[in-house]
Amino acid sequence: MRIPIIAGNWKMYTTASEAVQLVEHLKPLVENLNGVEIAVCPPFVNLIPVAQALKGSHIRLGSQNMYWEEEGAFTGEVSAKMLKEVGCHFVILGHSERRQYFGETNEGVNKKVKKALASGLWPIVCIGETLEEREKGITENVIQSQLEGCFQGLSSTDMKKIVIAYEPVWAIGTGRNATPEQAEEVHRFIRRWIENRFGKETAEAIRIQYGGSVKPENAKDLLSQPNIDGALVGGASLKAESFATIVKSAIH
Ligand code: PEP
Repeated sequence: MRIPIIAGNWKMYTTASEAVQLVEHLKPLVENLNGVEIAVCPPFVNLIPVAQALKGSHIRLGSQNMYWEEEGAFTGEVSAKMLKEVGCHFVILGHSERRQYFGETNEGVNKKVKKALASGLWPIVCIGETLEEREKGITENVIQSQLEGCFQGLSSTDMKKIVIAYEPVWAIGTGRNATPEQAEEVHRFIRRWIENRFGKETAEAIRIQYGGSVKPENAKDLLSQPNIDGALVGGASLKAESFATIVKSAIH
């Protein structure tokens, strides 16, 4: 039985005071909920005050990125050790916005995944096809090469500490979500790939989130699909009520 996970990606939207306000608003809306794991992923500079605001709550903290080196002259970057020390449990890696605007590759994501795991962080690894790729009928090829690239050299023990977020690029921030059937089809494909590479036990244990315009109105239908184990939520995670409604939709 996989526990669904709902994570909020706050992107570059919240200042520290807004982030703390959002957490304070969210906490009472989701306290005492069982059967769902909840995480919020604010911008780097909000992590410390948000960690403080989350004390005593079961909402986990995540970051939106990290660098793969231990430390060094890498101006502007943040290490896994730094994230761990401020209380991060998760780190989002390979988000399509990072791939599109900051040149992230599957190879780089793979290095980050390895460093995150070695540092005790749980990676949320984002994969997904563009609209052009979907229209060309090559969605599964794209997903497969992302899976192969991002998870190169990992063991099944490693894989059990990973969350995969399937996020069709055409659905992110567009208001146009994949239908539950479209999403389920790709999630099934991902789980089958994991089973082929890492075995049935790992495939059954790993959680695959859907991301892309998840809102209170469509969450229930998406989250009731057998291979959808939660959601990575952008826009709708910036409003405590919307995010809490999505969290509640994940409880079966
Ligand atoms: C995201 O940022 O990962 C995302 C899915 O955004 P949105 O929910 O706004 O489409």
